[in-house]
Amino acid sequence: MSQSIIPVTAPAMPPLDEFVEEIKPLWDSHVLTHQGEKYHTLEKRLQEYLGADNISLFANGHLALQVGLRAMGLTSGEVITTPFTFASTTQAILECGLTPVFCDIEADTMVMDAKKIEALITENTKAILPVHVYGMPCDVEEIERIAQKYKLKTIYDAAHAFGEEYRGHKIGTYGDMSMFSFHATKVFNTVEGGALTFSDTMLYDKIYAIRQFGSYEVDEYPYVGTNAKMTEVHAAMGLCNLRYVDESIIKRKAIFEEYKRSLAGINGLSTLSYPKELLPNYSYFPVLFKSEALGISRDDVERELKSKGVLARKYFYPLTSSFKAVTDRFEVQETPIAEKVAQEVLCLPQYPDLPLSTVSDICETILGLIKGRS
Ligand SMILES: *Cc1c(COP(=O)(O)O)cnc(C)c1O
Repeated sequence: MSQSIIPVTAPAMPPLDEFVEEIKPLWDSHVLTHQGEKYHTLEKRLQEYLGADNISLFANGHLALQVGLRAMGLTSGEVITTPFTFASTTQAILECGLTPVFCDIEADTMVMDAKKIEALITENTKAILPVHVYGMPCDVEEIERIAQKYKLKTIYDAAHAFGEEYRGHKIGTYGDMSMFSFHATKVFNTVEGGALTFSDTMLYDKIYAIRQFGSYEVDEYPYVGTNAKMTEVHAAMGLCNLRYVDESIIKRKAIFEEYKRSLAGINGLSTLSYPKELLPNYSYFPVLFKSEALGISRDDVERELKSKGVLARKYFYPLTSSFKAVTDRFEVQETPIAEKVAQEVLCLPQYPDLPLSTVSDICETILGLIKGRS
């Protein structure tokens, strides 16, 4: 018996003809990279879409985060961050020669618990790097207050928060900088790509230079740099996908609401509740399975779904603070809530073309499993 596989996510792709049309001019100009016309057009469109004071585009989100840290002059010291995130957040800190200091998360929102930041601040603290995990907004106001009080830089990992608005402000306008990822699996993609949005206009040239071997003028190399440019082909993909992103968020919303409806009212199972002041992008559908109440574990649910071809994923497990690359080098803080959430969380499939009937089937499988054990 053949059965179709339901992935946890599937990349958004524009109609092929449209993409071919978009890249045709490159065959005349022979400009494939180095901030050509496609790059500049996409940069301008995204600056508008994200409501950013300043924006710079990158080959991927991870390099954007690293370049952002370097552009703010962070080359040593401690960065307060969350262990409940994708590897990239913590690896960017490590690669920049900085020390990660792990702050616990809130049990319901799963973002960094801002009330626990101050206790972690030392004379070596340089910056705060919170993550709007699953597109849930961090406590941006409390973080801002702490950053000002202790003169710390703030750079948000907004990889999951594309296009969101919180308390009347675009999400990428909080803090000194925000990083967005345009990886194939994200709400908006350029195949691979990323962006930094930032408040200090004076940093534009520096960011541009670090992204390009440390140079923004011919024969001058004032900065240590890397190569993190976005190519014309990737920018062209972005221009096409940007036309469909609003429509895709509407589809994601319907899927999100179908899951919420089907999985409501079960003791021991909790789903994401967006705050009222958030315009969400419905990027993920994480569920917490509390084995004490349910009699089954997250891993049981993952296995059962897998046997039916549904590839739910343990985002985010394990915690980044448990990585060997971290524990070999640093004393790691205890984060008991993050520890528990990482054992309970499972992200269910969520992408615009996922049929609502499949969402119902997935929920039925989960409910059947819970019933069978209780
Ligand atoms: C995807 C992701 C990144 C890295 O983005 P890439 O574009 O894949 O380099 C960073 N942080 C988080 C939380 C992510 O999910």
